[in-house]
Order: sequence, then structure tokens, then C-alpha cells
Amino acid sequence: MSYDVVVIGTGPGGYVAAIKAAQLGLKVAVVEKRKTFGGTCLNIGCIPSKALLHASEVFAEAGHSFDALGVEVSPKLNLTKMLAHKDATVKANVNGVEFLFKKNKIDTFIGTGKVVGAGKVSVTGDDGSVQELETKNIIIATGSDVAGIPGVDVKFDEKTVVSSTGALDFDKVPGHLVVVGGGVIGLELGSVWARLGAKVTVVEFLDKVLGSMDGEVSRQFQRMLEKQGIEFKLSAKVTGVEKQKKGVKVTFEPVKGGDKETIDADAVLVATGRRPYTDGLGLEAAGVALDERGRVATNDHWQTNVPGIYAIGDVVKGPMLAHKAEDEGVAVAEIIAGQAGHVNFDVIPSVVYTQPEVASVGKTEEELKAAGIEYKVGKFPFTANGRARAMQHTDGFVKILADKATDRVLGAHILGYNAGEMIHELAVLMEFGGSSEDLGRTCHAHPTMSEAVREAALATFAKPIHI
Ligand SMILES: Cc1cc2nc3c(=O)[nH]c(=O)nc-3n(C[C@H](O)[C@H](O)[C@H](O)COP(=O)(O)OP(=O)(O)OC[C@H]3O[C@@H](n4cnc5c(N)ncnc54)[C@H](O)[C@@H]3O)c2cc1C
Repeated sequence: MSYDVVVIGTGPGGYVAAIKAAQLGLKVAVVEKRKTFGGTCLNIGCIPSKALLHASEVFAEAGHSFDALGVEVSPKLNLTKMLAHKDATVKANVNGVEFLFKKNKIDTFIGTGKVVGAGKVSVTGDDGSVQELETKNIIIATGSDVAGIPGVDVKFDEKTVVSSTGALDFDKVPGHLVVVGGGVIGLELGSVWARLGAKVTVVEFLDKVLGSMDGEVSRQFQRMLEKQGIEFKLSAKVTGVEKQKKGVKVTFEPVKGGDKETIDADAVLVATGRRPYTDGLGLEAAGVALDERGRVATNDHWQTNVPGIYAIGDVVKGPMLAHKAEDEGVAVAEIIAGQAGHVNFDVIPSVVYTQPEVASVGKTEEELKAAGIEYKVGKFPFTANGRARAMQHTDGFVKILADKATDRVLGAHILGYNAGEMIHELAVLMEFGGSSEDLGRTCHAHPTMSEAVREAALATFAKPIHI
């Protein structure tokens, strides 16, 4: 069979590229080595983690916050049922992708895809059978895999020493969970198990959580998580993870040098980041170049150095986020179809789905300072927002950064309940090159938490009303 496009990998990058290419009239096939479609995101990433985050949040709220609203309950955890909710959510989503492939007449091949050369992909099934597909274009969308701890031999058993995959499936709440890495995945999954009753200690190499996030947001967010009982060991380097007869011993020391500390925990979650996944793809033999960090090297049009071979998503440069992969999927399909595909990397929102949520788009204060750009800051706290008070979700604030001379919004950061939904009005504003005055003069429904976004915009170019 001969195709216009063969996509290797069906995560958010691959499946969106395949659907868009089919919508544009191209003959498309996908190759996936998992038994189900949807990649890391739908099977073991975004979707299952959000199912557990939501369920554990409701459980924690029922235990701690309902009483103040006049709702008296004594919640009891049924972990088996909670995990079943997560599994059912995953199933519905991966089946949805399968349905979309059928609807768009996309051929599907289950097996390991290998780039034999420009125009040729081989698919090796579990039984060793090999099929060859001919195609005008290949899109590599093989995503990423768990990274270990530099210099430490971590033996994942996904029960006691777990990656994010095992941390989605503990069959009982660990008494003490050590999380190595205070990034998004570590804090989200750490929050899940803390809410369900685990003592959680986060060991982080940097002196702040959430690495590249705005410093002020990161500090306040850490304090809020501490209030929820999560313990932090910052500027600390993990030097050993040893499985014991029962549990695991985690050893760490200050990054700057000093005495070692050990924690005997019930489980450890290693969440130190992810690496681009190119294993078994045959890229070297096919002459496809990687960059200095092992990612498939691409130009601004997602073309590799071999004509007709493209790459998108976690396996190429840029933030490892599902929506970034999706947008690249659309753009590369458009380019292959002869259109002008484009992604604006300056406006890619990022969200941490904890409680409160952290959402940001564009530049941080640290980045603006480093670039020597003069900016003004407008802030508004949720304590002064009526809807937030009514819902008892007053933690956090909105912060808008705008160019001092032109008032154009350059970055926005929201720490608060539902921040991940509110950030998008700022993303749209920034996509259109809007100013804080544009936003501040836009009528917002009352009472909504989004009014705090408007007030922060008012605080940027003039004065907020409600504080
Ligand atoms: C726990 C967790 C939570 C996350 N939460 C979020 C979130 O809330 N929001 C967000 O934006 N991002 C989140 N992410 C990141 C997100 O999952 C990734 O950015 C996204 O999945 C990348 O999409 P992709 O299409 O590039 O690759 P992937 O989703 O990794 O898909 C790649 C696919 O390619 C397949 N594959 C690999 N090699 C081959 C081969 N040779 N042949 C055939 N198939 C192959 C793999 O089996 C996989 O199915 C999370 C990640 C994790 C681990």
C-alpha cells in the first residue's frame, strides 16, 4: 500500500497530524507500538493523572472544606473505585481516537515503526512479522520516555520505585512517598497521594519548585503546598535509591556539598523529566540527524535533514506539552498539504493541575529582566474577588506583565482555582498582540473569577477598582 503520509506514533502530536492530513485530502496511515492509540498523554500521562487529580481533590475537599459550606460528610476512600474511574476515563479517550481514525479513513498498523529511508517505513508486529509501507512523507511523532536520575542507577519496579506510570496505579496509599523532582509531574502526582493520606516529601535539585515558572508564583505556590502537608527539600541532590526488603531508602545531599540525609520511605516516585524517544526507529541508518540533546533535529517547518521526513511533539525541541505537540501536528500536516502551517511558540500556555492550579503564558519576570525589556506589573489577589469568596477559593492571584512603553501584554501568570481555564483569555489577547488596556476595558461577567484577570489588567495600565 502506498500513502501520502505515514505517521509513526499516535500521541497528541501523531494522531492530530494524521487527522488533519486526512481532512486535507491526503491518504494517511499511522503506526503505533502500544495496543491502544493516544500515546503517553491519553494512556499514562495527561488524562489518567487528571482523572486522579480530580477524584482526589473532591475527596480532600469533602474532608476539609465541605464543613464550612454547611455540608457535613465523612468521606471514605475506595481506591479501587477511584483507579477504575481513571481507567474508564483512559478507555473512553483512547477509543475516541480509534473512532476518529476510522471516521477519517486513516489506516492503522499496530507494531514498531522503523524509518527504512525516505519514503519507506517498516512495521514489526509482536509476532515478528514485518510489513513495509511506501509513503511520500513520514512524520516521526514517537514522543518521550521517563528519564532517570543522572549518576544514579534507578531500578524501576513500578511498585516501590516508580515512574509517573507506576504512580498512577499504587494499589494502596503509600505511608511515605518521596518524590524526586519538584516539576509539574512530581507535584501533580505528589498532590494526588498527599490528598489521599500519604506523607509526601519532594526532593528537588533547584532552589525552587516548577523550574522555569515565574519566581514569585513558584514561591507562593510552594507555601500553599506546604500548608497542605507536602514537605520540600530544595537544593538537594539525590545520590541513591535502594530498594529494601520493605520500602526504599532514598539518599540525598545538599547540591553545594554537605551531610547526606536518608529517608526510609514506602515508595519513591522519580519525576526528574523525560527524554526524547527514538529507540529502535532506525534514524542513524536512515541518516536522520539528532540534536545535542538527543532530539530529532528539525528546522522551523518540522523538516529533518532528510527530505520528506518530518518530526513533531516531545521528540523535537520545545516544551514537552500535549497541546504543543497537537499544534505542531496541525502545522506539519498543513505544510505537507502545501499550506502555510505555523505555531506561535511565544504563546503556549502551561498549566499545573494541582489545587490551586498554576497557569502561565508568555514571559516570566525573570525572562524579561534577563532580556533587558522594561515592563510593568499588574496584580490582583483572589481574596478580593466575590466569586472566589463564595466558593472559598481565595488562594492565589493574577499577575500580568506588559511592555512599559507599548502596554502590549508579554506574559501572564495565574495561581488559583481553575487558573488553567482562565489563562486562555490572556493567550488569545497575546495572540492578537493585545494590551493590558484592551483586556481591562473588556466587560467581564459578574461574579466570576475571571474578573480578577480583568482587575489585574486594570492594575497594569491604570488602577483596579475592587482593592
Ligand atoms: C504523568 C504525565 C502527565 C502529563 N500531563 C500533561 C498535561 O496535563 N498536559 C500536557 O500538555 N502534557 C502533559 N504531559 C506531557 C504529554 O503527555 C506529552 O507532552 C505528550 O504526550 C507528547 O505527545 P507526543 O505525540 O509527542 O508523544 P507521546 O504522547 O509520547 O506519543 C508517542 C507515541 O509513539 C509511540 N511510539 C514510540 N516509538 C514508536 C515506534 N518506533 N513505532 C510505533 N510507535 C512508537 C509510543 O508508543 C507513543 O504511543 C504529561 C506527561 C506525563 C508522563
